[in-house]
Amino acid sequence: MLHILKNWNIKPFRDKHRLPVLIAGGPAVILNPRPLFPFFDVLLIGEAESILNDAEWIFEEKHTLENYLAKKSYSIIPGQKEYASRTYLMDLSLSRAFSAIISDKSYFNMFLLEIQRGCPKKCRFCLLGHAYLPPRFMPEDVVKTILHKGKARAQTAGFVGSAILSHPRITEILEETLRIYKKMSFSSMGLKDILKKPHLINLFKKGGVKTVTIAPETGKTLRKKINKPYLDEDIYFLVELLQKHKIMSLKLYFIIGLPEETPENVEEIRQLLEKILMIYRGSVKVTVSIFVPKFHTPLASKQFAEEKDIRKKLKILKGLSSKKRLHLRLPSYHHAKVEVLLARGDEEIGMALYRKVYSGESIRKNINFETYLFDTSKIAQLVSTHPVNIGVTNSFIKREIAKYHNARLTPECKPEYCRLCGLCNK
Ligand code: SF4
Repeated sequence: MLHILKNWNIKPFRDKHRLPVLIAGGPAVILNPRPLFPFFDVLLIGEAESILNDAEWIFEEKHTLENYLAKKSYSIIPGQKEYASRTYLMDLSLSRAFSAIISDKSYFNMFLLEIQRGCPKKCRFCLLGHAYLPPRFMPEDVVKTILHKGKARAQTAGFVGSAILSHPRITEILEETLRIYKKMSFSSMGLKDILKKPHLINLFKKGGVKTVTIAPETGKTLRKKINKPYLDEDIYFLVELLQKHKIMSLKLYFIIGLPEETPENVEEIRQLLEKILMIYRGSVKVTVSIFVPKFHTPLASKQFAEEKDIRKKLKILKGLSSKKRLHLRLPSYHHAKVEVLLARGDEEIGMALYRKVYSGESIRKNINFETYLFDTSKIAQLVSTHPVNIGVTNSFIKREIAKYHNARLTPECKPEYCRLCGLCNK
């Protein structure tokens, strides 16, 4: 946000030279538009295709456009209409989310294609698993047609999505990809999907995939609480499979500081990694983050972890940094704190960032940081007055909170008959 304020020269309402600016969608805006209120005339909440299909974008007067958008359920007009319902594209076959320009000067020199949106697994800390429901999949024939469009322009097909391997026709899609492209790449991989379809590893190998990435997130005891339905043994099975197919690089993501986490739970992560190193001869890259509570998730109202608690837990993991073949990336408490402020902050935080950029004033000057991190009544008020309705019912969220405490699992989405969160019976 600092970068945007500085480089776009965006000014708050009070400045008469302020430029009219519109902004549409994006996970950060759905997560928390409030810090942006002082800077934007209109915030449009949801997926761009759904918004752009709906709008008539040419108006002579700025206020006519504002009046037009004010009538839309997905718009927020700061100071006037500060509540919106997310809009989304139900039929992903209408999406045009694939690379328009491919350049060997770009970081991603590949044909990128989004084949799936909205993760069906509903991990209880995860924004994408809640704010983008229901899960939607691009039909196989549309995926294949789009893959053929990109074949003359790139040698690698890059699949984008939060649960790509959950696509019901993933095997057929990857087989077709291998007929057209030399390589394939994935923005996410789900362990459960690989366990259900272990033949995918063979397709990865043929597609030049060098690294498999999974996110066990935590040790075996806490995993059920966050709604990850797999055991350490499942991870060992995957590791053996990788070894057998000579895929010699594994990336793992973990979170510490989750609610009710004990040092013993972090010790379970350490033991898991030790055992993986015993079974697997390849390189193991481990990234550890600190839990940042996100609006719209069942863990939204939880406190951020105390620094001394995080220090204690990091100590448990630090011993692993001397291990050969293990590359350990540990988190910064300070950075996680800033993330919480942006994820949970309001207009006050937006203005404090603005003053920091333009007059060098300390963000702490008029703001008590800690209330956003630890003050349960302030946090409850921010959650209950959140300006975005994502469409998931409050009763679903309440049940999910209770299931977190009782370590009970919620099944993956089955939109044909599931009515759990209230989105699929509309
Ligand atoms: S109603 Fe069920 S299938 Fe549909 S999004 Fe909600 S949890 Fe998923």
